[in-house]
Amino acid sequence: MFKSIKYTLLSMFIVFKHLFKRPVTLEYPEKKNLVNEYFRGKPVVNSNCIKCGICMRVCPSGAIKIDENSFKIDLKKCIFCGNCTFYCIKDAIKMSEAYELASSEKESLELIYKIGGENERNI
Ligand code: SF4
Ligand code: SF4
Repeated sequence: MFKSIKYTLLSMFIVFKHLFKRPVTLEYPEKKNLVNEYFRGKPVVNSNCIKCGICMRVCPSGAIKIDENSFKIDLKKCIFCGNCTFYCIKDAIKMSEAYELASSEKESLELIYKIGGENERNI
């Protein structure tokens, strides 16, 4: 009996102790955490790209396809390793801070960049 009162009071004390502290979680999606400089989000290609194909060869999951007219990155395959950005000789591909990449449409997970670096699908 005495023990249960003791533990009830103890738990109430802990609740009150935390009641006026700042919450450690964010009310997502209204509030979002800033990502740090090493974060690897959606890969983005810019106009420096010369289509040399190095990134395609070093991509461990075969997510990059380059042909005459387009540069495609399949986010379904991408493991966000950053290899493509590391080996790019023209600084043309970057891991952006974008992390909200979920989609109910499979097609929108395929990023198609024109050679000018413009993304045809905005996700
Ligand atoms: S992104 Fe870089 S490595 Fe990939 S094809 Fe373009 S220039 Fe070459
Ligand atoms: S981040 Fe890694 S898996 Fe994704 S496209 Fe670049 S090399 Fe391929």
